[in-house]
Amino acid sequence: MNALMQDNALLISSLLEHAARHHPDVEIVSHLDMRTCVRTTWRKATLRAARLASALRTLGIQPGARVATLAWNTHRHLELYYAASGMGAVLHTVNPRLFPEQIGYIVNHAADELVFFDLGFAPLLEQVAPQLKSVKGFVAMCSRAELPALNLPGPLLCYEDLVADAEPLAEWPSLDENTASSLCYTSGTTGNPKGVLYSHRSTVLHSWAACAADGLQLCARDSVLLAVPMFHVNAWGIPYAAAMCGAKLVLPGPDLGGERLFNLMRDERCTFSLGVPTVWLGFFQHAEKLDAAARAGLCLERVVVGGSAAPRAIVEKFEHLFGAYVIQAWGMTETSPLATICNLLPRHDGIPLEERFDVQTRQGRAIFGVEIAVFDAEGRRLPADDHTPGELKVRGPWVVSAYYGQEPGAELDANGWFATGDVALIDKDGYVQITDRSKDVIKSGGEWISSIDLENLAVGHPKVKEAAVIGAYHSKWQERPLLIVVPNEGAEVTAAEILDFMQDRVARWWMPDDVVFVDELPHTATGKLLKTRLREQFQGHRLPTDAAVAD
Ligand code: ADP
Repeated sequence: MNALMQDNALLISSLLEHAARHHPDVEIVSHLDMRTCVRTTWRKATLRAARLASALRTLGIQPGARVATLAWNTHRHLELYYAASGMGAVLHTVNPRLFPEQIGYIVNHAADELVFFDLGFAPLLEQVAPQLKSVKGFVAMCSRAELPALNLPGPLLCYEDLVADAEPLAEWPSLDENTASSLCYTSGTTGNPKGVLYSHRSTVLHSWAACAADGLQLCARDSVLLAVPMFHVNAWGIPYAAAMCGAKLVLPGPDLGGERLFNLMRDERCTFSLGVPTVWLGFFQHAEKLDAAARAGLCLERVVVGGSAAPRAIVEKFEHLFGAYVIQAWGMTETSPLATICNLLPRHDGIPLEERFDVQTRQGRAIFGVEIAVFDAEGRRLPADDHTPGELKVRGPWVVSAYYGQEPGAELDANGWFATGDVALIDKDGYVQITDRSKDVIKSGGEWISSIDLENLAVGHPKVKEAAVIGAYHSKWQERPLLIVVPNEGAEVTAAEILDFMQDRVARWWMPDDVVFVDELPHTATGKLLKTRLREQFQGHRLPTDAAVAD
């Protein structure tokens, strides 16, 4: 028997219409650069998105066509999120930190027809443009007065002219909710980048998870500093979720420096922010220099940390300096990205802060919509006993089924699970602890050592800026941990000091066999440690603990 309920499609345009109707005057604060701040509202953004959508139609963008962006977090990028997807096209947010060849590869792979770009990316675009095969035109995200002369192999249009000259769409098209809405490529630390194609339905469902109380708790009372780029997994879905709940959005533009973020949080009364650990390390380099009175200027309540494991030091500092709660979240481009979120349970009421930090340094529990489980190498499901690490697999309506260009379901096993490539423990309450990427795990004498745990511990040392742990060859144990450390600027620190600091906090046999110091560590375009490069670099490293090698 069919139900008798309305079956309105879950569309991205409906999020925007809702924000315009119920939160019309809530602000969107957009910093285009260090000098230019544009203050707009959900009502104005909706109108401009409707104009831009009709301009896209006039430019010949058909339903399903891909529209690329090379852009920071600004109100224009936000308008494009809604205009392109809302009119039935696919928004492809290109990560400008990729190598130019990779950008060329993914724009061609996606067969993007238009490229919208911030002026700061004009030199990059000029470099990449000759490789691009499908692009019919380029749109500079600026006013007419700012439009530069560029050497591009196609027409150069002006964003503000497009918006000003177009009649707004009379209404947003009623698409099928499974229509593709946006496309993000994973940064491809191995092989070529792969495209994840989201739908209107997956995006709207994911937004509800962000707004749920045991999700990210985003709500109309929040003022959100979006310190995660809109070219990184749709800024973790916040541009959509903020419209769903009518939150204020503060878009910082290109500068994510610590001082800048602090000042924006203070001036815009931000209650909520999100970013990768590196951004917060920069934030604290500034915040720790301030006195208590200056720090009291913030009214920050919650900070989402994800993309890499949240070091305990970050969790502690947000709590101690600002009384702000760190919500660690785990996910990936393939999971939209929210999959596990670290909130507390009734049994945590009143526990000592130190114990609460232990919980917060885990990656959290599955939210409704994402099923999770760990499996061994033979594909057998492992118990959630907190002792048996296995590959984490996920399934649910906002998890990828196949990469762009593949047949639906191509990435799933017979039971519909997607293998994440992450190794995890799950405890009896369902809290996940990511211990490694499967290719990064250190296998010492048949047992696994978590490089992430060791890295987090090392960065807890006050003189350590960043740390990486890789497995180095050992003739007896196959692999032993090698700790690679970037000291804080100007700090003098020895290997013994760091090992001393670590030794009471970790099992003895997990302790690194050697420590080396470097000036910087290699990163991927999304700010993660590039372990493949480190392994190449330290391929011949001789561990002092290896008698066979030492002889
Ligand atoms: P990339 O393009 O760099 O692969 P993703 O955002 O898709 O970008 O990366 C997803 C991966 O990032 C996950 O598979 C996991 O290894 C890592 N990751 C994300 N969040 C966390 C977290 N909270 N703790 C540990 N690792 C994380």
